[in-house]
Amino acid sequence: MPPVPKVAVIVVAAGNGSRASGATALPKQYHSIGGRPMLVATLDIFLSDPAITHVVPVVRRDHIDTYRAATVGLHPNAARLREAVIGGATRQASVLAGLRALTNDPPDLVLIHDAARPFLRRETVAATIAALAVSPAALVASPIVDTLKRGDQAGTVTETVSRDGLWAAQTPQGFEFAAILAAHERAAAEGRTNFTDDAAVAEWAGMAVKLVAGPPDNVKVTTVADLATADRRMWMETFAALADVRVATGYDVHAFTAGDHVTLCGVKIPHSHALSGHSDADVPLHALTDALLGTIGDGDIGQHFPPSDDRWRGQDSALFVEDAARRIAARGGRIAHVDISIIAEAPKIGPHRDAMRARVAAILGLSLDRVGLKATTNEKLGFVGRREGLAAIATATVRLPLASDQDVTP
Ligand code: MG
Repeated sequence: MPPVPKVAVIVVAAGNGSRASGATALPKQYHSIGGRPMLVATLDIFLSDPAITHVVPVVRRDHIDTYRAATVGLHPNAARLREAVIGGATRQASVLAGLRALTNDPPDLVLIHDAARPFLRRETVAATIAALAVSPAALVASPIVDTLKRGDQAGTVTETVSRDGLWAAQTPQGFEFAAILAAHERAAAEGRTNFTDDAAVAEWAGMAVKLVAGPPDNVKVTTVADLATADRRMWMETFAALADVRVATGYDVHAFTAGDHVTLCGVKIPHSHALSGHSDADVPLHALTDALLGTIGDGDIGQHFPPSDDRWRGQDSALFVEDAARRIAARGGRIAHVDISIIAEAPKIGPHRDAMRARVAAILGLSLDRVGLKATTNEKLGFVGRREGLAAIATATVRLPLASDQDVTP
């Protein structure tokens, strides 16, 4: 094996998840935990891990549209995410489909992981890869700590079973790629289709399988109750990790000029005048862009989109907001809330408020209740009162990873 092995990951998401959601309902891997589909949370573990070369999801044919919708705009490193592979009738067949998809650009090692284990830690991934330096196969498992009982049909204990040397198998399970592919192909060819995990296929093929002690909290989300617990836990972990809360403001003003409409928060509003400006002069979106940039101390709208650059002439100002949001995402941050106040004697904002909020929420991918939008006149005072122009103030609240200080320390 080369010193830095090429490590692919197969994420198995081809189950119908009926135990967690009922046969006809949304399968569990697409249920939201911590604000995003469980499968996306699991994929993200590997996509954000620099030790992983590429990731191949295996999904059911009838879930492919759900999968595509769930993974739109997934991650800055989504280039590592390969096209989804359609799974088979059993878990074993699905894994084989994933392994075959890797053959045109074969990795040195492959990790096989269940989409239903979204709490996997990077240290566990690293420990699995490290074990493969000394063994052709390795699986994450936890030693059994509970006393084991065998029961009969009536629910009466018939025996206490020794837990000596017993481990509960988890995923990921890691393998030398060529060896596990050969083992799976042979099992399929010989009609051995009853293996419930890939380590069992490796054992059957005579590969030595190393146990990697994993944390017991690498749980498999199986039942409806598990989904609720996983959702709560993921929110808690997400907010605990994004504990660096930043608030910043932005302000903008543009003058009125000849015209018949203004564009505010992306909504075209008929008016006796237009707003003068280089882009579409969307004053509230400019203020919002500056507020967002302020949360990460990354300059202002004029610095990133200079008015001297003709590319931004007449441009939809959503582009500026999206750019600021990308800069926050690149720092691992999440926008928690934005709030905009428009100060103008006219036009009336009230009739357009809902459309404007909806547009801002859509641009930022936020729920509506995370977008505030208010308007006030200036009581006929000053330049706004004289109807010479229109102003806006915006506030943004952003959560960043606690470690983000280190990123900007010289
Ligand atoms: Mg402006």
